[in-house]
Amino acid sequence: MKISENIRKVKGTIPDHVCLVAVSKTHPPERITEAYDAGLRIFGENRVQELLQKQPVLPADIEWHLIGHLQTNKVKFIAPFVRMIHSVDSIKLLAEIDKEAAKCSRQIDCLLQVYIAQEETKFGLDENELESVIMSYIQGSFSNVRICGLMGMASFVDDTAQVHREFGNLKQIFDRIKQKYFSETEYFHHISMGMSGDYSIAIEEGSTMVRIGSLIFGNR
Ligand SMILES: *Cc1c(COP(=O)(O)O)cnc(C)c1O
Repeated sequence: MKISENIRKVKGTIPDHVCLVAVSKTHPPERITEAYDAGLRIFGENRVQELLQKQPVLPADIEWHLIGHLQTNKVKFIAPFVRMIHSVDSIKLLAEIDKEAAKCSRQIDCLLQVYIAQEETKFGLDENELESVIMSYIQGSFSNVRICGLMGMASFVDDTAQVHREFGNLKQIFDRIKQKYFSETEYFHHISMGMSGDYSIAIEEGSTMVRIGSLIFGNR
């Protein structure tokens, strides 16, 4: 199936208020260009090295999102251009992003990654850690990063009730955090949840941003 056809299909199932991040990891620039020509502008990569190879050879108006785990020593490489980082999981990382964004006179939008799955392998903050990162952010003076919301990944299971529960849990955490800490800030409004296999459930549970790879580009 052609990429443009895949995009048309996926878009037909996503409401207007939900932002589509096309996850292009492992796919070469030519395939990304096809998606770009079909109208997409927001692309997500999970590895810094790969992002750094692709970004210079693709159109400058692409909005690049980093969706994978990020080490503090790699922040400086992507700070000049990255638009959003979905995977912030410590105040140390947030502080580093702020520092490197300042050097580039930029502001970088960040999401805090919350651990909602029942699997051991996933990165992310538990609810207590989440609150402590947010309190440090609020008490600090981070003028070059904005916490724009939360990100989470559900377990890879066939049990749709469990996936509903996990995404529903993230939505509840989001609502509570927004009310408690961000009631006066408009920019805290994103819940990045949902991938090719579970985005419909995520949207039902309140996702505002889905990260879709294989349904657009095919299997990796
Ligand atoms: C790979 C990846 C996706 C997209 O996965 P698909 O199943 O191909 O849609 C979404 N989010 C993250 C964090 C990923 O690493």
